[in-house]
Amino acid sequence: MKKPVYLDYAATTPVAPEVAAVMADCLTLEGTFGNPASRSHVYGWQAEAAVEAARRQVADLIHADPREIVWTSGATESDNLAIKGAVAGHQSPHVVTSMIEHKAVVDTCKWLEQQGVEVTWLSPDRDGRTPPERVLEALRDNTVLVSLMLVNNELGCVNDVATLGAVLRERGVLFHVDAAQAAGKMPVDVRSMPVDLMALSGHKVYGPKGIGALYVRRSPDVRIAAQMHGGGHERGMRSGTLPTHQIVGMGKAFALAADTLDEEMARLESLRAVLLEGLRDLDGVTLNGSEEHRVPGLLNLSFAGVEAESLMIGLRDLAVSSGSACASATIEPSFVLRGIGLEDAEAHRALRFSLGRYTTDEDVRFAAHQITEVVRRLRNVR
Ligand SMILES: *Cc1c(COP(=O)(O)O)cnc(C)c1O
Repeated sequence: MKKPVYLDYAATTPVAPEVAAVMADCLTLEGTFGNPASRSHVYGWQAEAAVEAARRQVADLIHADPREIVWTSGATESDNLAIKGAVAGHQSPHVVTSMIEHKAVVDTCKWLEQQGVEVTWLSPDRDGRTPPERVLEALRDNTVLVSLMLVNNELGCVNDVATLGAVLRERGVLFHVDAAQAAGKMPVDVRSMPVDLMALSGHKVYGPKGIGALYVRRSPDVRIAAQMHGGGHERGMRSGTLPTHQIVGMGKAFALAADTLDEEMARLESLRAVLLEGLRDLDGVTLNGSEEHRVPGLLNLSFAGVEAESLMIGLRDLAVSSGSACASATIEPSFVLRGIGLEDAEAHRALRFSLGRYTTDEDVRFAAHQITEVVRRLRNVR
């Protein structure tokens, strides 16, 4: 069976062959299989050296210090650690977030609410961005943390994190940013983005699933409480034997992303243009999320008069998603699309197309042709 063209890079990416190769070198007896915490022999030392080299590779992509990188099992855990870890120990903390965050942030904040933490849920603009004024207005004396994403996973729009970070720094409020959809897709620089905590994931950047990192700023010094207790790994912030193969894979993936960022952004931008150009003859197509502030590879499009579910069934030669991957199993319209003000019916007409490293010109031309045909057919049968 010929598999459909993969246009769901925002859900996950394949592991790059170069990444798979370095991972394989960290598994077997001949490889770097040791426990990075073993101090008494060369197996441990080699594993530790591999982990520290990868820590630098991940830090380099976001221009951080390697000592600011804490390994986790993925961006979900990083979000949990950042948010719960920042709030822990405060008497009556208040947290500010938005209605269109990733579930890893939304559900963590909902859980905190059940524990008695006050949470303010901001609504973003129609373009999917949260205005800094709205964040400022929400701050209270007891606000401990603001959590907002850099790039939205359903819309691809980019928040103004530099401005937000500057005002929050002045107010002494911690700022956590989920950058899982941003790293490797746009320039991310913690020197010009005054964030305190930043969640990263391996598998959105051609690394393996099950590995991520939390950036924790050293200056000014940010303190968070561990959520996983054990051997005191990662300077006490996250215990657990470090998975050398996963870490080395994420490091290699982030290094590759850094090397190719500019050309890859330009390439995806032109593929996106080809896709949109190919849909030119179709009317009633609207782009959801900011046209101006966005990453190049992600498009969320609504097709007037066509249900996304029917469209997806018709587009069996394309692997795309409606709503986020986690929400696809349910028939609820995307909370993100509702969050930017779409009516339920409108939200049911949107599909997300996400392009990536292995997407070709031919792929997007084929996609545009298929979409045009299926949308026309569905509109005609109505
Ligand atoms: C994928 C994603 C996550 C979750 O990352 P995992 O590594 O799969 O846990 C969190 N936030 C955003 C914005 C994402 O896109």
